[in-house]
Amino acid sequence: MSQDSIHIRGAKQNNLKNIDLDLPLNALTVVTGVSGSGKSTLAFDILYAEGQRRYVESFSAYARQFLERMDKPDVETIEGIPPTIAIDQSRAVKTSRSTVGTMTELHDHLKLLFSKIAVLYCRGCSRVVEKDTPQTVFKKLSPEGAPLVLTFPFAVPPLSWEEVKAGLLQAGFHRLLQGQNILNLEEVQEPPKGERDLEVVVDRFTYQAEARKRITDSLEQAFHFGKGKLHLYFPGENWRCEPFSDRLHCPHCDISYYDPVPNLFSFNSPLGACETCRGFGRVIDIDMDLVIPDPSKSLSEGAIKPWVTKPRRFQRLMEFCERKRIPEKKPFMELSEKQKKLILEGDGEYKGVRGWFRRLERKSYRMHVRVFLSRYRTYLLCPQCQGTRLKPAALDFRIEGKNVAEINAMSVGEAHDFFEELKPPAPMDKVASLILDEIRRRLGYLAGVGLEYLTLDRQSRTLSGGELERVDLTTAIGSSLVNTLYVLDEPSIGLHPRDSHRLVEILHRLRSNKNTVVVVEHDPEIIKESDFIIDLGPKAGEEGGRVVFAGPYEDLLKNRDSLTAAYLTQRKAIPFPSSHRRPIARRTIKVFGAKANNLKSIDV
Ligand SMILES: [Zn+2]
Ligand SMILES: [Zn+2]
Repeated sequence: MSQDSIHIRGAKQNNLKNIDLDLPLNALTVVTGVSGSGKSTLAFDILYAEGQRRYVESFSAYARQFLERMDKPDVETIEGIPPTIAIDQSRAVKTSRSTVGTMTELHDHLKLLFSKIAVLYCRGCSRVVEKDTPQTVFKKLSPEGAPLVLTFPFAVPPLSWEEVKAGLLQAGFHRLLQGQNILNLEEVQEPPKGERDLEVVVDRFTYQAEARKRITDSLEQAFHFGKGKLHLYFPGENWRCEPFSDRLHCPHCDISYYDPVPNLFSFNSPLGACETCRGFGRVIDIDMDLVIPDPSKSLSEGAIKPWVTKPRRFQRLMEFCERKRIPEKKPFMELSEKQKKLILEGDGEYKGVRGWFRRLERKSYRMHVRVFLSRYRTYLLCPQCQGTRLKPAALDFRIEGKNVAEINAMSVGEAHDFFEELKPPAPMDKVASLILDEIRRRLGYLAGVGLEYLTLDRQSRTLSGGELERVDLTTAIGSSLVNTLYVLDEPSIGLHPRDSHRLVEILHRLRSNKNTVVVVEHDPEIIKESDFIIDLGPKAGEEGGRVVFAGPYEDLLKNRDSLTAAYLTQRKAIPFPSSHRRPIARRTIKVFGAKANNLKSIDV
């Protein structure tokens, strides 16, 4: 038997009728046929199961116990099967930490790109914050011939003034700047008043482009003794002071910033995750709409629902109302904002509704308290990060004006345009340009399978089966495995027919890495663009399970037995049950005004 095929002999799994098949390797094969003809049995129960089983068996006995064991398919022999990966719609995503961005590894690439090329803006003054070096400071000097005084700020240590002076003199500094006066340090008899740092003069010079060496040496010295800070005074401009820092520090606002390490930009890392919601973007809180479900009720009528059954709470509330002159017989919604706030927040002595819930939460180890609390709890947008999941420190960094949360909130299409048009600040190092290429490529794949409308921060568990499968497909291409068998289950489901050719391109790309792709499909365009077609049938169930046709597309069209061929050549209009289901009147689910995610207010 040839080495370039997968050989299946005597397949009897489910309804398959003892079939023999040879599937070409490094090719795109479509398995088609009516629903129930045995397509999925062949693709998943045989090819995928056997590929996985052999892969698992290649591990040690110890490792095997941690891996899911597949049943041996009901087949006499299978030869030539490579390690197999299934991309289907059954993969359940449970964690809310999985998003389109994390699934596709775009999240990882974005955090790397941000750590490389993002620009930091001071949150106090919006100036660009960068680490200065003697060279960058020198470049910012002008005009030629300007007189300059270079100092560093020096915090006076808790020593006698004589000792402080001696230390500075020994280090070679002889002058202090005080206001607009330069003082001879030896003549200064007592420390200047006030808590401010001393301004120790390092050098006085006139700026000349030629004097680069001398000036940068002095700047270096000032950074060193100023622990990363230096001041340049311009006596000719009314002693204007220009501060510089060699760390991520805004010298104007005296705010220090984190270094842009990659994990600062990840909500899955403690370094980047918002401290209030720990990177979830939402917090559990008491929902006041549940606590006061009917604000037309007055307090005495029991507007505060959880206290209706708590006479002591109710009594204390009435006493509080009397003390604060809050009309307890007025509907809650007619109370002033100040009165409502007093009821909810209390006045310090009286703890209010929130205080009472806070106390309960400390007892939530008790089951009945937990059950009680759960009735009034809801998920709210995290007040700290506004749902961006990240620390403020991460959001101060921007690429082309966008922070990482704003990029995550973009749709695939928007992000694709954004990164295609991005002109990175030159010069960009090689690693950064590789990362940028990878981001562009992956966004291109996602757009390529018709998912432009998904936002990168969309939670994976809210994706439809077809969407999830196509996202997985793009990840598979991105991960560039070779000599692998990919088995896919109707990746065109939910895809607009006009996007079929783009899906075909992606499938071809997957194949081009010496991979073998087997797709269960009905889509005529995908069938047409495949290398090999297996048509199972002729009908469903016991009347199916036979190979009606196996071969290339041209031969399929000439085949008189294949229903698929008849359909493709329009000899017969055959309703394909699984992809074009006719609604059954009594079993339809009615949905009105569905607007979540990408639904645009549709009625089904
Ligand atoms: Zn600032
Ligand atoms: Zn948060």
